[in-house]
Amino acid sequence: MLMANIKTAQDIQYMREGGALLSRALQAAIDLVKPGVKMHELDAIAKNVIEEGGGKPSFLGYKGGGQIPFPSTVCISRNHEVVHGVGTRDIALEEGDIVGLDIGCWYKDLCTDMAVTVPVGNVREEHLKLMRDTRASMYAGVDAAIAGKMVSDISGAVEDAIDQKTYGIVKALVGHGVGHAVHEPPNIPNYRAKRFGDSTLAVGMCIAIEPMITLGTHKVQEADDGWTIVTVDGKHAAHFEVTIAITEKGPEILTPQPEVQI
Ligand code: MG
Repeated sequence: MLMANIKTAQDIQYMREGGALLSRALQAAIDLVKPGVKMHELDAIAKNVIEEGGGKPSFLGYKGGGQIPFPSTVCISRNHEVVHGVGTRDIALEEGDIVGLDIGCWYKDLCTDMAVTVPVGNVREEHLKLMRDTRASMYAGVDAAIAGKMVSDISGAVEDAIDQKTYGIVKALVGHGVGHAVHEPPNIPNYRAKRFGDSTLAVGMCIAIEPMITLGTHKVQEADDGWTIVTVDGKHAAHFEVTIAITEKGPEILTPQPEVQI
């Protein structure tokens, strides 16, 4: 295990403050969600809240694979878009959409990361259930994040919370360590995956747990814009994410989840 990924009490305190700021920024965007609102309007208000609070958006300008810097503060991903949708698009949300809002910020040189999927107006029951079940699987993963257990215990808890007769668990993208960088080791897959290796969870580790669940196949692909990840079969997907610290008392959520009625 890399000791650099163990955070001090001071680091965690800064991430707690940054996570609270991030949660406020996300809430401000959620409060604007309704049919007709443009994605870029949600992005602008979230950016403003982060900057007014002394933070800095961490996705904006981020180079994932070393190509195009990410163009927005929030990843906004609608319906069959799973994650990494560009938030500055001039696209209006429509009644019945489900919209993933994923956001990260730097605060006092530490970063936090979180996401929620929200309904736009009246949404079909199967899509609401997809969102509820995805959120529940995230909390199952959080509850398994206990010092001395393994990363694979988190992965198994998420996987076991998802009925794979109904849903696909996205395998190509995974949760991750977070804090000194936007993405740090270890990978936190949302299923039992041998290819990512395994490691022991320790006090002071900070990780982002983020199940991405679909109503069809687990298979995803990149859209033509070079960023947005979409389902191959065009079925809807949901995404929830929290940053947590592993403490002596158990997992602590550093990015309080907004209350979303689903
Ligand atoms: Mg993340």
